[in-house]
Amino acid sequence: MSRLVILGGGESGVGAAKLGVKLGYDVFLSDKGKLAEKYANQLNEMGVEYESGVHTEEKILNADLVIKSPGIPETAPMIVALRSAGVEIISEIEFAGRNSNARMICITGSNGKTTTTLLTHHLLTSSGVDAGLAGNVGHSLAAQVADNAHELYVVELSSFQLDGMYQFKADIAILTNITPDHLDRYEYKFENYVDSKFRILQNMGEGDLFIYGQDSPAVSEKLASFASIAPQSIGFTYCEESCCGAKVVGDSVQVELDGRKFAVDKSGISIKGRHNLYNAMAAICAVMRVGLTDEQIVNGLQSFPQVEHRLETVCVRDGVTFINDSKATNVDSSWYALDSMTQPVIWIAGGTDKGNDYSVLDDLVKAKVKRLVCMGLDNKKLIDHFGGMIPLSDTNSLEECYAECVKYAESGDVVLLSPCCASFDLFKNYENRGELFKEIVKNHG
Ligand code: ADP
Repeated sequence: MSRLVILGGGESGVGAAKLGVKLGYDVFLSDKGKLAEKYANQLNEMGVEYESGVHTEEKILNADLVIKSPGIPETAPMIVALRSAGVEIISEIEFAGRNSNARMICITGSNGKTTTTLLTHHLLTSSGVDAGLAGNVGHSLAAQVADNAHELYVVELSSFQLDGMYQFKADIAILTNITPDHLDRYEYKFENYVDSKFRILQNMGEGDLFIYGQDSPAVSEKLASFASIAPQSIGFTYCEESCCGAKVVGDSVQVELDGRKFAVDKSGISIKGRHNLYNAMAAICAVMRVGLTDEQIVNGLQSFPQVEHRLETVCVRDGVTFINDSKATNVDSSWYALDSMTQPVIWIAGGTDKGNDYSVLDDLVKAKVKRLVCMGLDNKKLIDHFGGMIPLSDTNSLEECYAECVKYAESGDVVLLSPCCASFDLFKNYENRGELFKEIVKNHG
């Protein structure tokens, strides 16, 4: 019996265990942190041996195959030991892909992955297509392959997941954009991160479709460096003069693919802002390839609900609109948030800085922001940068921050939480930051 060792006991690890059991592996799961009760219960039910709070070498190094959680870096001592022992290490998505014949629509990029994934999935399911949702959102792909197989999956892929993928093949791939992020995992070399994102192309063939953000310099420069790529490709852009592909022309979004033309008015797309038009163009290309009708696409674009923590309107009170964009953990995503604002903004930013260069925001901040409310343990970098530019408040907790926002907000303003930074100084994660923000807004009505 082959031994399958899974490192990391979250959604993907426990899903991989499920598929491993089904395929007849001798499965062992090891998590250096604490396993959530829900996952421990699932492992008990499956009869899978596991450990938590520790990695026991003798139980891991004897593996025939290892599935590693994307969160574990290559430099972790256990990974170094496994590599030198020559054990094959793959990701849960790779494992699932090796055991499924389903069609895969895969979505990666620095920003817009979740929105594009959810929108693509919504367009398909609201049209009656049996599509699973997997990867960073939804349930583990391996678990679905094991016990709830679909004929098609929409899969959100991070660069960390792509790093553990070798034979996996996307039938339709979307690369939204690439801007610097997570460089600590890529030897601080942007080109390594770009290469990681482009792994999405590996194994794609002639009959497949690659959909890419043409306005993202890192994407188009990298593509230009290839003599050719195997799959058919289609770009999406704001450039009205673009000869082909998907583009925004005045108030309409126009797509031409495989000789078919599709157009929809911007106002018919439920999610707003320039970035969301990019996401919509990408999703439209994918579902046109799947064969949805114009009517199905138009209906789905209109009925797509708000995505939590992404430019999510919390409420409008006394003429002030409160928006939760807690997922904006880098400068690029806050750029798009500010770009899409049409009313004066009280902007909440701050948290754990990831080496941000705030200067790209200067023009937007000068034009749209009436006050910056810094919210973080240490706001020095933000204050140094924006201090002379606009009025600001220095706060170190959500309560203090909210009080400042309310003090300065007038009817017609927007209070926008779009922090540009990770959340770990004051919050558990970005979800927790967004939830607490919504709670304080709603409770202090
Ligand atoms: P990801 O899954 O790649 O992190 P999300 O869809 O969760 O992307 O969005 C993350 C943040 O980026 C949000 O603040 C959102 O408003 C912003 N965003 C969404 N789509 C894009 C895009 N295409 N380009 C830039 N920013 C975007």
